[in-house]
Amino acid sequence: MMHNFIPPHRFFPYLTWTDIDTMSDKENVVIIQPVGAIEQHGPHLPIIVDAAIGMGVLGKALAKLPPHIPAYALPSLYYGKSNEHWHFPGTITLSTETLSATLMEVADSIYRAGFRKLVLMNSHGGQPQVMQMVARDLHIKYADFTVFPLFTWRVPNITKELLTTQEAQEGMHAGDAETSIIMSLLPEQVRIERAVAEYPPSPGKLLSWERNLPVSWATRDISKSGVIGDPTTASKEKGDRILESVSDGWVQVIEEIYAYQPFTT
Ligand SMILES: [Zn+2]
Repeated sequence: MMHNFIPPHRFFPYLTWTDIDTMSDKENVVIIQPVGAIEQHGPHLPIIVDAAIGMGVLGKALAKLPPHIPAYALPSLYYGKSNEHWHFPGTITLSTETLSATLMEVADSIYRAGFRKLVLMNSHGGQPQVMQMVARDLHIKYADFTVFPLFTWRVPNITKELLTTQEAQEGMHAGDAETSIIMSLLPEQVRIERAVAEYPPSPGKLLSWERNLPVSWATRDISKSGVIGDPTTASKEKGDRILESVSDGWVQVIEEIYAYQPFTT
């Protein structure tokens, strides 16, 4: 089953070149490239977490998408830029240069096939800047190509309402939300008995790890376990609700991207 969580009729590599060649309304077809990471997620979660979340959410969203909206998933890019975690074994990282070159070249091929809308669906918090720069460069390179550098968790969804205030603000990695959604997607791969909570101290009054005035950090500077958050309150039931809600948000976003018409003055 090469399509993983993706419904087979929405999995781009199952098409033939003639299917692609004769596809109608190609400039509005939404092509989605999930971008994950293979990196440590504490002692209780497998290193596939970010890649699995991207595919799991996208698969669920594409299963719910109305059939008249044409959208296809590319095979996930499992690897991302994860060097903040590389002191923890099992983390596999691409450089910024390799990740951006890979995305640029995938996008070149998608453009050459006649498509004009590409979504970079990123599930790893350490690399949204790479997606944003690649998307801008592609639009400058091909004026009629629109690339959407999106973050899996940033579509409309209820996740924050299911978390404690501290977790909603400071749970950055392998905390309640990620653990819950993996309990829903890959229940046999969660070692919940090993889950530990770890919140780093704030670096200052104005400075923060990830917000408006950030400090550069490697995970080992701020966490011994690799967890930045509290996974001990996670549950499968919460994960099911998060998965439903985030995938509903993605349905709305894919519909809007399908309808989007490039804007020029
Ligand atoms: Zn993660």
